[in-house]
Amino acid sequence: TQYVYRFGGGVSDGGSGDKTLLGGKGANLAEMASIGLPVPPGFTISTQMCTRYYEEGQSFPDSLRDEVAQGIAHIEGVTGKTFGDAADPLLVSVRSGARVSMPGMMDTVLNLGLNDQTVEGLATASGDARFAWDSYRRFIQMYSDVVLELDHGRFEEALEIAKEDNGYNLDTELTAEDWQKLVAEYKALVEELWGKPFPQDVHDQLWGAIGAVFGSWQAERAKVYRRLNNIPGDWGTAVNVQAMVFGNMGDTSATGVAFTRNPATGENAYYGEFLINAQGEDVVAGIRTPQYLTKAAREGAGAKPLSMEEAMPDAYGELAAVFDRLERHYRDMQDIEFTVQQGKLWMLQTRSGKRTAKAALKIGIDMAEEGLITREEAVARVDPAALDQLLHPTLDPDAPRDVLTKGLPASPGAASGVAVFDSETAERRSATGEPVILVRVETSPEDIHGMHAAKGILTARGGMTSHAAVVARGMGRPCVSGAGSLAIDSRARVMRVGTREIREGDTLTIDGSTGEVMAGSVPTVQPELAGDFGTLMEWADGVRRLKVRANAETPLDCRTARDFGAEGIGLCRTEHMFFEGSRITAVRQMILAEDEKGRRAALDKLLPEQRRDFIEIFEVMAGLPCTIRLLDPPLHEFLPHQEAEFAEVASAAGVGVEQLKRRAAELHEFNPMLGHRGCRLGVTYPEIYEMQARAIFEAACEVAEKSGEAPIPEVMIPLVGTRKELELMKAVVDKAAEAVFAEKGRTIEYLVGTMIELPRAALKAGEIAEVGEFFSFGTNDLTQTTLGVSRDDAARFLGVYVDKGIYARDPFVSLDVDGVGELIEIAAERGRKTRPNIKLGICGEHGGDPASIAFCEKAGLDYVSASPYRVPIARLAAAQAAL
Ligand code: ADP
Ligand code: MG
Ligand code: MG
Repeated sequence: TQYVYRFGGGVSDGGSGDKTLLGGKGANLAEMASIGLPVPPGFTISTQMCTRYYEEGQSFPDSLRDEVAQGIAHIEGVTGKTFGDAADPLLVSVRSGARVSMPGMMDTVLNLGLNDQTVEGLATASGDARFAWDSYRRFIQMYSDVVLELDHGRFEEALEIAKEDNGYNLDTELTAEDWQKLVAEYKALVEELWGKPFPQDVHDQLWGAIGAVFGSWQAERAKVYRRLNNIPGDWGTAVNVQAMVFGNMGDTSATGVAFTRNPATGENAYYGEFLINAQGEDVVAGIRTPQYLTKAAREGAGAKPLSMEEAMPDAYGELAAVFDRLERHYRDMQDIEFTVQQGKLWMLQTRSGKRTAKAALKIGIDMAEEGLITREEAVARVDPAALDQLLHPTLDPDAPRDVLTKGLPASPGAASGVAVFDSETAERRSATGEPVILVRVETSPEDIHGMHAAKGILTARGGMTSHAAVVARGMGRPCVSGAGSLAIDSRARVMRVGTREIREGDTLTIDGSTGEVMAGSVPTVQPELAGDFGTLMEWADGVRRLKVRANAETPLDCRTARDFGAEGIGLCRTEHMFFEGSRITAVRQMILAEDEKGRRAALDKLLPEQRRDFIEIFEVMAGLPCTIRLLDPPLHEFLPHQEAEFAEVASAAGVGVEQLKRRAAELHEFNPMLGHRGCRLGVTYPEIYEMQARAIFEAACEVAEKSGEAPIPEVMIPLVGTRKELELMKAVVDKAAEAVFAEKGRTIEYLVGTMIELPRAALKAGEIAEVGEFFSFGTNDLTQTTLGVSRDDAARFLGVYVDKGIYARDPFVSLDVDGVGELIEIAAERGRKTRPNIKLGICGEHGGDPASIAFCEKAGLDYVSASPYRVPIARLAAAQAAL
């Protein structure tokens, strides 16, 4: 197998189609080189090598040494410099790059190839000793951190002291001699911390760095990132070795990061940051506050330091031309890294840029309207899960705000929560359900878990392309970055702005769309669903086949669901209604009754209440199908569990405490999930289902009478395993319908069907469909019963199962397509054979999960049903599944 692929100098062994093999960075470097953009020459060691590296106990095959030597020879050939040459050395960067970008998660080493001899050569050859020694100290610092894994705090400390001793503020003020002195200190530090001198052999340096990059794939933070983003652990990373170009060669040199459009709002304007006389890491790490790219952005922000457009007009002009070229070539918004070395522009990276949901919508629609992509592509590109960001409340513009300060609007959305100053606390406090705002001077990849746990992120340092900003946008967390007037003392757990003080636990609000930071919480308002959102949804609705319904059981939920575009109710659970207000007493009387007569007396009290529930729901849903599930949970759930409650409940229900306790003990079950529940309640106490059916039909008739439009009730019998169960229950429902229709003098169209949530039901679907007019796959229970895994107890081991790859994802979140999916396919096929027009839908949590929706499309179901807030996500996912 070939492991090394070259790029640059007129050669491209790979291209953008090779992301699996070369990683995103390597594939796109090769692609940019092949279309003639200025890319420093280099080579990529493929992801296959990463896999082999781990298979072979973290070592390299001999053949790789030859291939890497040839790769280095390629770079030497193009640059005319020699690796390790004491007179005019070739320096390289060693960069990680996985199939999908994992911002800041893995390691990069710059300026590799410097040692005590070559640094002198670099100084002479470049005529710039300051630059040479600056590069050397950068190299030692990075190599010590990434490869030798020494405490980087010690190196930063030494630099801070050097600055203080000389009375400097900025790194750029250090002279050649200052850097040279610091290099000596760094080398001493390496000896002290590592016990050996800093490696002087450039080939040792190279192999150390290659090993470290492969090693970073299994770093803890990379694993956490992969888990949060569902990235398989076996993909591996590639390693890119590339000739260095230098942004730190004085005032005609610079480095920067840019997006071809605004990744926060989607606005069609170049967007980015750069730093003069600096190397790449400086921009992202927030060491100096970067400068704007364009004049318009600088003026908009009222900033003083010149933009790149003003300070380096030629290089800027070239860069702008590259932006347009790349957007047309990739037909998508690009996220770009570049360096200018003494006026010459070099491209170091491009990829499709991460963006907020708002930006994704705007960019998709704009590009479709510009004719760059089709409407279908626009629909295909928006991540359905990201829509969630748009569906939640924003700050009420009219509410008073106690504004403390303003930072950069790094990731939109509003969040309120208690201030915490480290990621561990963020995780701990949010685990108890408390909303938290993570406040940091700047974030680092180690903060990934805290950022995930937080509702919002606030940093004092770092720009719009800082780690905090990039990761927050990717996660959809609101973020305000670079709030420079904040003084944060993380040890004392306090931040100060002027005379104001916010301590850990005090409430803060941030608005990631404006950059405002406020004390206390601010009321919110519902989001605006028109505009770009409405347009894209319309396009999506134009291509989807699956209908989308909602799981809703209150009029408010139903209203929300309709506003979000639901085309019916896929699951209305009736048990929640039994807990409302005084009804629970009647429910308990029913449970405690000794015989059918006593039960009927209690049910008579419930009938008008239940009818009223359905009337309210049907009024909202008139004209649409509504699947209503008859009572499902075991009865003991309605009885008190605490000793203290017994007396009160007994007297309210008009029975003795002893009788209540006896009955509760009788109802106790060892495994209630598989106990006396679902249609088993209806089989043993048909009067319960009879009452519910009557309430449904009376309500439907009344709404039809009043509004002229009837709902289409779909009465659903839960937990059916056999044809006979459904037959018995359908008879109860049909009899109630007949009686009500006779009384009211009108008939209503309705269906009776069942939930498929037992493997037996799926297998015997052919028989069950002789009776049932629809199937709704209750995939929560179907997953429990098929896997034999209790959803309520799975937390203890399921995480490990996912980590070990036993299940690719939590099967309660994303459908187990191989197992549960096959049962669904069997049931659909057998059901249709008996009853070709049988209606098929899904109503478990999976109905709102894009991957599961794709399966439902493939299985040919008629609709999916999701919780109201997930309805737009389901609409978009259904459209994507159909494309
Ligand atoms: P990350 O994936 O964390 O962005 P990169 O491999 O892209 O890491 O490297 C980070 C930064 O280092 C780049 O943005 C770039 O500015 C700088 N860099 C990497 N390789 C080179 C190079 N060959 N010459 C100059 N700068 C480089
Ligand atoms: Mg990069
Ligand atoms: Mg169920």
